[in-house]
Amino acid sequence: MKVHFLGAAQTVTGSCFLIEACGIRFTVDCGMHQGNDEIEERNYETKLYGPESLKFILLTHAHIDHSGLLPRIVSEGFRGPIFCTPPTASLVALMLEDSAHIQEMDTEWKRKKLARHSGQPDQKDITPLYTIEDARKVPDQLHLVEYNTTFEPYPGISVTYKDAGHILGSAFLEIVITEDGKSTRLVFSGDLGRPGTLLMHDPSVASQADYLFMESTYGDRNHKNEDATLDELAEAIAYSYSNHEKVIIPAFAVGRTQEILYCLYLLSQKGKLPADMPIYVDSPLAIRATEVFKTFKEYLDTPEVIISENMSALLPNVKFTLNATESQALNTMKGAAIIISASGMCNAGRIRHHLRHNAWKPGASIVFVGYQGVGTPGRKIVNGAKSIRLFNEDVAIKARIFTIGGFSAHAGQSQLLDWLGKMEHPGLQVVLVHGEEKAQQTLAQLIHDKYKLPVSIPGYLEEMELEVGTEPQVIVTARPQTQKVDWDFLLSTTENQVSMLRSRLEHVADRPWEEQVDIKDRILELNKELLSVLSNL
Ligand SMILES: [Zn+2]
Ligand SMILES: [Zn+2]
Repeated sequence: MKVHFLGAAQTVTGSCFLIEACGIRFTVDCGMHQGNDEIEERNYETKLYGPESLKFILLTHAHIDHSGLLPRIVSEGFRGPIFCTPPTASLVALMLEDSAHIQEMDTEWKRKKLARHSGQPDQKDITPLYTIEDARKVPDQLHLVEYNTTFEPYPGISVTYKDAGHILGSAFLEIVITEDGKSTRLVFSGDLGRPGTLLMHDPSVASQADYLFMESTYGDRNHKNEDATLDELAEAIAYSYSNHEKVIIPAFAVGRTQEILYCLYLLSQKGKLPADMPIYVDSPLAIRATEVFKTFKEYLDTPEVIISENMSALLPNVKFTLNATESQALNTMKGAAIIISASGMCNAGRIRHHLRHNAWKPGASIVFVGYQGVGTPGRKIVNGAKSIRLFNEDVAIKARIFTIGGFSAHAGQSQLLDWLGKMEHPGLQVVLVHGEEKAQQTLAQLIHDKYKLPVSIPGYLEEMELEVGTEPQVIVTARPQTQKVDWDFLLSTTENQVSMLRSRLEHVADRPWEEQVDIKDRILELNKELLSVLSNL
């Protein structure tokens, strides 16, 4: 039996593990790669998955980093069933359509930009990753499965979905594969939630297994407790309220937004939410997802606020802005307010407009409540960038930045270890996925020290052979994760161009005055760009 790591291997996004067993191929998840350009290029490599030859897909949950390439795989010929829980099916339909909409808008923007630049209006070579039409085909292939109900998607392969407590409908998978009379037990953790969260059930305990493929997003960190988390949110609110500015909360539309609303309700109960501070949920996806939460209340722990037909009675200040005009009105609105908007990593959607209008204001605050992928604007701000580029414009970061890990939908370090500790683990081989290198190395060491278990950390496109009772054998090594930047070459090109410019200056001085001013302005733009690069170093 073989496992191919097609994503979330020494990175967090792009979850996709392809398994070859019983003469067929199937995947666990089919997620989108998110982050810098180099990582996002991987989204165009779906031919590697062999979409036509895949028998089925097991989807752990609706988040885009687990589901986001389904429309592309389907458009490239995948015709098999996609298994998931009922809430995941409802959420994923919404999320993929929203994702496709973003892809189409981005493509349109790039086409227009290139057309203006080149004078060629027809820029059909630039195509979206997938279209809304592609996304609408995916739900036809979804097959619903309930938690704790074992099914056989193919003879010799049995699968059980169990509650992962991460977001509505999220699951970890127990898979038993029987080949030549020998059974191999695999567990794929998907994304694991934290025990004791406000909305989700605690993650279930996994059965004994031979191989555990475990997420490691927060392998190097623990989260603060609930009280400290609420206090930090209250501090951000008090800060911007006293400055008559906005609290901007980039939040994943599914899960985070609903939990933040719940926390705001708790703060209002404690008298820590000013009565005259409006709260705007500015994400059509979040608004639709909240409706899905109401339909599946039996999957939630404490759904009062979310399922209330009369949320305004509990949180009178909350307003939902569905259309673009209402959203734009927030940009010019004066006074203190809380704005919750997506995307959670600030790489798409309406949140970028809110940052553009508020990030430069010293009295505002930006509250990060979820994981920020490498290369995303959110990660840059968390890392202390002095400015970020939004809509081809540098925006200074003067707002106060809060990073509140306690809202995370992911288990922290000790919670991951506890979850693993509850499994019966003699003979278990651990494979860490869905984490950055530092988090994975730290967690691997702890697993080794605490449970004396062998741990592997596969890289992108690595392939492993699995044989019960042995460590996974690497049969194809990983593709190097990042290409090395040749700084010497890059900077010597810049220097050469500057010296050429200098040598041609005397000709420039003879040109008509208007032309000289034009050239001067363009060089000033270059200088500004260089200064902005320097200020972030
Ligand atoms: Zn997730
Ligand atoms: Zn994930």
